[in-house]
Amino acid sequence: MSKNIVIIGAGVAGLTTALLASKKPGYKIHVAAKHMPGDYDIEYASPWAGANYMPVSVGGTRPAKWDSETWGPLADLAQNHPEAGVHFQECEIHSRTKDLGSATATWFADLLSSNPWFAKVVPNFRVLPKSSLSPGVDSATAFTSVCINTAIYLPWLVSQCLANGVTFQRATFGHIREATAAGAHPRGHVDLVVNCTGLMASKLGGVQDATVVPARGQIVIVRNDAGKMLDVSGTDDGDDEACYVMTRAAGGGTILGGSYQKGSWESQPDPNLAIRIMKRAVAMCPALTNGKGIEHLDIIRHGVGLRPVREGGTRIEKEMIGDICVVHNYGAGGAGYQSSYGCANETVNLIEEALGPRSRL
Ligand code: FAD
Repeated sequence: MSKNIVIIGAGVAGLTTALLASKKPGYKIHVAAKHMPGDYDIEYASPWAGANYMPVSVGGTRPAKWDSETWGPLADLAQNHPEAGVHFQECEIHSRTKDLGSATATWFADLLSSNPWFAKVVPNFRVLPKSSLSPGVDSATAFTSVCINTAIYLPWLVSQCLANGVTFQRATFGHIREATAAGAHPRGHVDLVVNCTGLMASKLGGVQDATVVPARGQIVIVRNDAGKMLDVSGTDDGDDEACYVMTRAAGGGTILGGSYQKGSWESQPDPNLAIRIMKRAVAMCPALTNGKGIEHLDIIRHGVGLRPVREGGTRIEKEMIGDICVVHNYGAGGAGYQSSYGCANETVNLIEEALGPRSRL
């Protein structure tokens, strides 16, 4: 007999989990969420992401396994499914010795290494010759990565899910138990709930995980083309600011970032920070404006998203909450896309464990 599953959340975590679970026989998947692809909201991180594949996980850990398992599916989309809005782009990581010990450099530790664990996962990993580096950059690596146009990719995930029989509904839950109430699943009784609520897992009744906090990311989206993705180990404007450039697939514009302001829920763009973001981007990547100033950037919009950062990393775990069987997949921080398939795979394994003939919940 088929099992009825409600997935709370339609960000990249909820949608990837729904897609992979819908490929298994015997599950009737219903996605219920306050925000859906097409929305732009401060409680909804996924549309704001760059989004690229640039692992910041530490080799040998679960997050590195999730990132590693995600490269193949993303590369397959870039190679074989242009309609998903994912394309290959070269990615350069610049390192400045003076950033050692800063928040960004610490967060990026493995990424800044000249021999990171993912050097064998992505194509064309190489150390760039010193002679090719811009003034102020002490070392750099490069590799082939992908950049995802989230405005195409999130709806594409919905379409793939719909084709597999997944149903969707707008719903806002105060408590996780509401996801099992009468009418919560179009087929009746709910056998299992998957919690993909991102940052809002900190507020959802029955979960209220106080270890999930926002890391505020402010961006400027421009029409200019960078030609490649660039990222640097730090800025001269403070520990919680960052500098990166990535051009999205299929006319999605170029994302200029950014910031990593932990604990800030501020939804409105800070105009001064926006100026610093643009100045740093143009300095790091003169190709954006043919060597000219920021007045030559053609702005599409300013934006702010909140990365759902969780102490201890993404929570992928089974739990009984009252008499409800729950599998969690939330708290991916700044890595929700690049770890999405690995995380969703592990979540689906836990769903199978919980609902299978030898249920261990
Ligand atoms: P969300 O996208 O926030 O989705 C949460 C879902 O849960 C929503 O549908 C919401 O409505 C729903 N929900 C929550 N609470 C409730 C409730 N009570 N009732 C009903 N529904 C509820 N990651 C990368 O891998 N690469 C990048 O380059 C990258 N760049 C980034 C740049 C920026 C500026 C930002 C902000 C993030 C970036 N990220 C990147 C991180 C990535 O965006 C997140 O990790 C990811 O989007 C988190 O997805 P999620 O599905 O867990 O959460």
